Amino acid sequence: MKHSWAGIIWMDLLSLKSLQQGTVHESEHDYHIEASSNGSDQSCPDCGSTHAVGFGRKRQLFMDSPVRGKRVGIWVDRKRLRCKQCGKTFMEPLPEMDDRRQATRRLVQDVERESLRRTFASIADDVGFDEKSIRNIFRDYVNRLGREVRFETPR
Ligand SMILES: [Zn+2]
Repeated sequence: MKHSWAGIIWMDLLSLKSLQQGTVHESEHDYHIEASSNGSDQSCPDCGSTHAVGFGRKRQLFMDSPVRGKRVGIWVDRKRLRCKQCGKTFMEPLPEMDDRRQATRRLVQDVERESLRRTFASIADDVGFDEKSIRNIFRDYVNRLGREVRFETPR
């Protein structure tokens, strides 16, 4: 384990199975974490084939749940893959990430819970989203709850 005293610290903030944590940068309000995937899943979302070859890389930012009052941003060095079966290209699957929200699934779940009892602005400030993203998560959550309630209503 490496140590550095130039604003870089080491600790296990992620505990995400699909990612390997690199350096953690800490500032007054934020943690920035470098990460790469462990490469365990290369299955094509289109045809399901597991035979894919590397087709470049891309750095992507995902927000994660705040830690000790600081926002957490994870920079993932993510592989682009090309399916040998069907020829489609795709980003390697990261099951713990919500690609649409550019956030971890656990953060989206936290925001869903919080959005029922706090203002969108205060949540947005805490997690590093804009207010519109919080409103979208809230709206989808309430719609989903509505469907579940209707589904469970006896006829
Ligand atoms: Zn395929």
